[in-house]
Amino acid sequence: MQHLDPDRLVLLALSEETESPLDFDHLAECAVCRHELYALRTVADLGTESQDLRDLPPPPERIWQSIEVGIGQAPVPAVPERRSRPRPRWLLPVLAAAAAAVLAVAGTVVVDRLAHRAPPERVTARATLSPLPSVPAAAGGSVRVLAAGEMRVDVRNLPLTTGFHEVWLIDPDDLTKMVAVGNLSDKPDVVLTVPPGIDLNRYRLVDISDEPHDGDAAHSGRSLLRGTLTY
Ligand SMILES: [Zn+2]
Repeated sequence: MQHLDPDRLVLLALSEETESPLDFDHLAECAVCRHELYALRTVADLGTESQDLRDLPPPPERIWQSIEVGIGQAPVPAVPERRSRPRPRWLLPVLAAAAAAVLAVAGTVVVDRLAHRAPPERVTARATLSPLPSVPAAAGGSVRVLAAGEMRVDVRNLPLTTGFHEVWLIDPDDLTKMVAVGNLSDKPDVVLTVPPGIDLNRYRLVDISDEPHDGDAAHSGRSLLRGTLTY
């Protein structure tokens, strides 16, 4: 099916030209062109309302809502009603300017939203956590060390505990050297602060342990997951 020419849709929206029987038939059966025509008429109405371009742009949400309402109100499958109100010649450039303003506002909103989105985390090291032999094979996780001196720890299917799960950094060349980083606190992912002064090239073994609430700050010896940081 051949759609109506976009220029012709603009003229029809402005009632600068009247619908020919061919347009009429096409609009009656083509939802695409019908919606386009209604969207254009909505913009034309905005142009008529303000007449003064300094009034533009109105709040972008309102414009988009108007356009959506305009589209939503397109009678289906009824034939769109003809506009009887004559539209002056000056409206065409106003329509073009209004449409441009709508696009400019939409573009600004998009750029604005992109600009205010949090920057992507810069990852300086990562590790895949694998279950130790005594732990169900479905358990696992991952660690990402962030440039900001933080560690994001994601775990899944850890065995239930009456105590808590603790994150450690261990020197694999001397397993007695370790530092506690923090608790997982029953959440599937946490962001912990890397203890200041810790050399992650040395303390590169990440260990998740099951710790009882016994007041003993030392490692319980019950490791669940382990993985080595790589850069
Ligand atoms: Zn069409």
